[in-house]
Amino acid sequence: MADITRRGLMLVLSSPSGAGKTSISREILRRESGLTMSVSATTRAKRPGEIHGTDYFFVDKTEFGLMRNRGEFLEHAKVFDNYYGTPRSFVEEKLSAGLDVLFDIDWQGTQQLREEAHTDLVSVFILPPSTYELERRLNARAQDPAHVVAARMSKAADEMSHWAEYDYIIVNSDLDASVARVQSILTAERCKRDRQVGLGDFVKRLRDGQ
Ligand code: 5GP
Repeated sequence: MADITRRGLMLVLSSPSGAGKTSISREILRRESGLTMSVSATTRAKRPGEIHGTDYFFVDKTEFGLMRNRGEFLEHAKVFDNYYGTPRSFVEEKLSAGLDVLFDIDWQGTQQLREEAHTDLVSVFILPPSTYELERRLNARAQDPAHVVAARMSKAADEMSHWAEYDYIIVNSDLDASVARVQSILTAERCKRDRQVGLGDFVKRLRDGQ
């Protein structure tokens, strides 16, 4: 295949907790080369099984504040009672190398990225198939205490009110089908003319018979 220089894109997945976004992200990363996950910094406590540097960079509030003051975040927000932020340097490095970056961030972070990098952003909102299913998934995780699950259920409605700010909407009834949809979005967005910055040279060589 022709090697045409391409600008990396920022693929954002947002959803209320329990809509299946983490499973979709994991599977998409396994299936797609050229896509890398942005690892956020957070002040929230580590859940069982989570790994520092893989799931999040777990930092305390002082460290988070220092990072924010040094301008190290591309976006940051308070979600529930914790702070979350996307480290800037990692993302900028990958994008300029022509790699795509996947983000699992909330609607506040998505708004900030849209303001900063409108043309590079592709946003996808994942909806659960029903309220019953959302609650079932949150309970099945069994990692958070009951009062946290209850708080997340009530926050889910707020989060979902932002669906119309996103480019694409996926109702996650079936993991495999949802992953295939995200892959289709990625494939189409990668083909966009504006992202293929090397096209001019490529077509020139074609027309010159090289
Ligand atoms: P959790 O604590 O369950 O991992 O994530 C809670 C929420 O915070 C999720 O909706 C997730 O998308 C969001 N989140 C995670 N990292 C970031 C980040 O760096 N920035 C923003 N704005 N939201 C984030």
